[in-house]
Amino acid sequence: MSFGENYQRIEERIAVACARAGRRREELHLIAVSKTHPVAAIESVAALGQRDFGENRIAELIEKKHAVRAAPLQWHLIGQLQTNKVKLLESDIIVHSLDRESLADKLEQRFTGEKIHCLIQVNCSREPNKSGVAVEHFAAFTEYVAAKKAIAVLGLMTMAEDTADERHIRATFAELRELSERLHASAIFSDYAGWLSMGMSNDFEYAIAEGATHIRIGNAIFGARTA
Ligand SMILES: *Cc1c(COP(=O)(O)O)cnc(C)c1O
Repeated sequence: MSFGENYQRIEERIAVACARAGRRREELHLIAVSKTHPVAAIESVAALGQRDFGENRIAELIEKKHAVRAAPLQWHLIGQLQTNKVKLLESDIIVHSLDRESLADKLEQRFTGEKIHCLIQVNCSREPNKSGVAVEHFAAFTEYVAAKKAIAVLGLMTMAEDTADERHIRATFAELRELSERLHASAIFSDYAGWLSMGMSNDFEYAIAEGATHIRIGNAIFGARTA
């Protein structure tokens, strides 16, 4: 199938999920996850009107960001960021994977006098091999990050377990939403915008039902990754 057909099919699924949840399509941002796919594929999808793109490795993101010829795109870093790679980051990239103190320290050093927009990644599925702040450590981590002048926290991000168990997936997404609501009420972050980055190709309908504002779709747009 072509990108155009994939893209249209995703938009149809999003429309159905929004209708079922009583939500408007405009409340939702689709991030096209282009990791492992070439610049030409990104340009084809951008030509369909897509503006938000995500990559999980910073070096690959930067390379593509500077190679793509298309109307201005918004880039999202959705994978873990090693502290020694923070120097590659540019301040117009949105980081979805702020997950530990050492990374917050490095961002604060790197972006003195600037703002870097981030989401805090939370390990709501509690899988031991998943990145993200542990739920038990979340409150302490938000206080740590709130003291950093360079970090503007817009919202939260999570990944659900790879399972067919709808209740389990939705409980993960619902927990992120609840953490976000409490954070919003606490007013600890002045730039907080209530972003909820959750849902991928195989579970985004559940994420929409649970209040996602940003869904991250790779395979269902670009086709299967070989890597
Ligand atoms: C790869 C990736 C996605 C997209 O996954 P698909 O199954 O291809 O839709 C979303 N979020 C993160 C963090 C990823 O690494």
